[in-house]
Amino acid sequence: MQYVEGLSCINCGKTYKPEPERYLCTDCGDNGLLEVGYNYSRIRRDWDLEILAENSDNTHWRYLPLLPVYPDTPRPPLRVGGTPIYKNRPLGEELGLQEIWIKDDGLNPTGSLKDRASSIAVVKAREAGVGIVACSSTGNAASSLAGNAAASGLQAVIFVPKRAPAGKVAQLMVFGALVISVEGSYGETFELSASSINRWNWYNRNAAINPYLVEGKKTAVLELLEQMGWQLPDWIVLTVGDGCTIAGAGKALKDLNELGFIKKKPRLLGVQASGCAPITKAWKDNKPLQVCEENSLADSIAVGKPRNWRKAIRAIEETGGEMVNVPDEEILEMMSLLGRKSGIFGEPAGVAGLAGIRRAAQEGIIGKKEKVAVIITGNGLKDIESARKATSEPYSMPPDLSRMEEVVLKEGLSEK
Ligand SMILES: *Cc1c(COP(=O)(O)O)cnc(C)c1O
Ligand SMILES: [Zn+2]
Repeated sequence: MQYVEGLSCINCGKTYKPEPERYLCTDCGDNGLLEVGYNYSRIRRDWDLEILAENSDNTHWRYLPLLPVYPDTPRPPLRVGGTPIYKNRPLGEELGLQEIWIKDDGLNPTGSLKDRASSIAVVKAREAGVGIVACSSTGNAASSLAGNAAASGLQAVIFVPKRAPAGKVAQLMVFGALVISVEGSYGETFELSASSINRWNWYNRNAAINPYLVEGKKTAVLELLEQMGWQLPDWIVLTVGDGCTIAGAGKALKDLNELGFIKKKPRLLGVQASGCAPITKAWKDNKPLQVCEENSLADSIAVGKPRNWRKAIRAIEETGGEMVNVPDEEILEMMSLLGRKSGIFGEPAGVAGLAGIRRAAQEGIIGKKEKVAVIITGNGLKDIESARKATSEPYSMPPDLSRMEEVVLKEGLSEK
């Protein structure tokens, strides 16, 4: 926060003081998303790659100069960030590439990349002097807010659409949140949360309109590139729902570029589910967003009325990026392919990026020799229903070695 200059409207450019509860531009309403601006020359004076490398804090707070929180506000004592990255040749080959890097953000404390934003939200709530935090979510924003609130001693109020997977709702209950399951779409869920937040003055963790949360999400990309030793990939691949994650990626690249930590920007590939791809459509048609239905089992990215599409599209454009859509069958296929080739278990929205990579490679968007990094954004244990659809049934048998004999023969698993 010591380097934050202010907030500026991405629509009209009007600037605001960086107050914790400043969400939208008063002149532009819903179109007036705000963006956090930093004083890069002051950051450059105090911070560089060497200082960063010497920092032994492996959580995402290691990027504090680029985060919009005061250094001494208490932070949730959870290990957010510091998720592992793996280079995986066999998986790359399956997707038509030579080199792929996988960052497993499903290993965040509550199992998704959303912890990076929710941890910022609870710190901002404290700075605002508010004890209750609230959001609407298809699941992960909610469970991460509930977890980070619990760790910070705050109360969470969560609105989820009826279709949210049971695993995610169970997390909310375990973390002690007040949970409202809304009989309606995600859009309607969002509206009810927005009016409740307004009415009872809770802290608003709706990433799409809270400008501070994108800043948390950007740490996934700051971390990714630092872990790659600043040997930049040609592409960074992310799935897109509301658009905040990819907007955060764009912000990370902007920050790093402004600070001189990177000289060029990797291109962003945004991936949506074919059954709900309004941002891809708006981008391809170069037209304002049209609300669409939410027909995908990738619940975390099935957002028919995304709030952050402008920032998302801007991030794609600023990096010369692309967008592709993938059908649910391919998402399920990737769930099992990723598991088999890497030992990583991702939820549908977490692995859809892989299906996007294969499409982009087939369509010649990504070249065979290009280096690609993908972030697995959520953990598969949250949604075992989908995992079941993605895989076959186990063999079922009585405790009988002769039946085992048949199976081993059939599967060719004898070591002799
Ligand atoms: C939220 C989420 C996304 C997409 O992020 P947006 O900011 O909504 O675009 C992707 N994958 C998972 C697992 C998520 O929870
Ligand atoms: Zn404005």
